[in-house]
Amino acid sequence: MIATFFTLTHGKIPLLAKYARRSVKRFGGVLDFFSVLNIVFSKNRGRIPILKEASPAHPYEKIRSDIKKTAYAGYWTELIAEWTEERHPEPGVYSLFVDMLRELNSAGAPPELLSIAFQMRFACLTGIEPVLKSCVKCESSIETISDNPVAFDMEKGGLICSKCRTGSNKPFLLSRGSVMRLNWIANGDIERIRRIRCSEASLAETDAFAEAFIVYRIGKKLKSLDFLTAIRER
Ligand SMILES: [Zn+2]
Repeated sequence: MIATFFTLTHGKIPLLAKYARRSVKRFGGVLDFFSVLNIVFSKNRGRIPILKEASPAHPYEKIRSDIKKTAYAGYWTELIAEWTEERHPEPGVYSLFVDMLRELNSAGAPPELLSIAFQMRFACLTGIEPVLKSCVKCESSIETISDNPVAFDMEKGGLICSKCRTGSNKPFLLSRGSVMRLNWIANGDIERIRRIRCSEASLAETDAFAEAFIVYRIGKKLKSLDFLTAIRER
């Protein structure tokens, strides 16, 4: 079996896990999705490296026993798998992923909120962050723009004030509350995120924007997002 691991030192890397399915002795059944592991692997003369040892550091089993949490973690995983290059370390994305999995595993902040945080920070770390503090064209700050809702131009990657809108492309409309929340989440730590209180509807609006933005930037449909949408609509 070839399994892809996301590692701190080597980034995304496929490893050959020999007899992983039947060898409980070798890997102790620890090769589960969303588990943080300590692994040892060896080079394999130009071929796929071989996984030698794996032991759980944090199994995060509460994610796998909850379908909604699994759906969110699956989405983050696909995002990382799609966006990162093999054997290219991404320490910032790695620590974001581990932090968010830990929080998702605990009974802390709601998964929707964590997913907004994951997506916004992922966008910042990978250089695709949306412009949410000012109009992307005239640079007027959000405080001086009186529009509500505020338009977001996907193509330009930022907010666009009513004076600068040309009407040629259909913008994503965001309430001012969502814009403020997105800025707060993108710049705050996990403690700050836990303190956010807002209605389910506004959380859903903010999350829908983050997902639409990420899909637009990635430029392809993500299977995990279809699954996540189906789970939410149940
Ligand atoms: Zn403007």
